[in-house]
Amino acid sequence: MPLNIPGLLVPFQLLLRPRLVLPAISKDIRRLDFQALRDAGYRGAVFDKDNCLTIPHEDRLVPELQEAWKECRSTFGHDNVLIVSNSAGTRQDAGAIQAESVSYHLSAPVLRHNNLKPGYPCISSIRTYFSSLPRPVKNSELIVVGDRVFTDIVMANRMNPKYRLFPPQARADVKDAGPEGPLAIWTTGVWKKESMFMRWFEKQLVATIQKWIVKGPEAEREGWMERFVKPEPVVKIAQEKTGLHYWVTRRLNPFAKAEPAPRKRGRWRRIGVAS
Ligand SMILES: [Mg+2]
Repeated sequence: MPLNIPGLLVPFQLLLRPRLVLPAISKDIRRLDFQALRDAGYRGAVFDKDNCLTIPHEDRLVPELQEAWKECRSTFGHDNVLIVSNSAGTRQDAGAIQAESVSYHLSAPVLRHNNLKPGYPCISSIRTYFSSLPRPVKNSELIVVGDRVFTDIVMANRMNPKYRLFPPQARADVKDAGPEGPLAIWTTGVWKKESMFMRWFEKQLVATIQKWIVKGPEAEREGWMERFVKPEPVVKIAQEKTGLHYWVTRRLNPFAKAEPAPRKRGRWRRIGVAS
């Protein structure tokens, strides 16, 4: 794994811009409502690869995401969903062989870039790609989805002019980018355990900044969750209370609630009246 200098410099930038690590939404990809995002004006998506769409160092989509990935590509369009990885498509990917393979298996373009996320040269490559589309996509019309705070979420927020040190008016590219940046989406969970200490640290950092440093945007975040996250699927529990399986699970499960005691019959049986 190459040394990620842009990622290593993030903690110093955080001293001035702690909100850089804050995602707008943190949720499983399968819970994202791509149609609602499209209806809200988002026309393009940037996806991380490793531990987001695929198992690290593999080129195939994890089977669990088949449906969501299909929905995403059909909602935004083939060219408007771009994979930006710090493995496939980089200098380490000799001959862009892995990028070709990932592009083939995921049916989506993979960005070729020489600088790693969350570096500004990588952001420029993303901008060049989306600007070159027949119908260019602005930064403010993008969602950026990834599993790592210090690369994916920071990169998404660095694309937002309001987090930059210099006024947006001074930069020509920011003028084109519109007033706001992309929607940063942090995917929860990993497909394969890796860098678990760093992930734990990122989680603690985000929670700390949300609680102690940044005050106020919670309502905004809740609004985004409400608009762009599908409700939890309701799992219907079989109500069948007869048969051997039910009897065994009730008897062996120590956490099962005790059945209410059956009502005692009255001393005198009521004599039924034929109707
Ligand atoms: Mg990743």
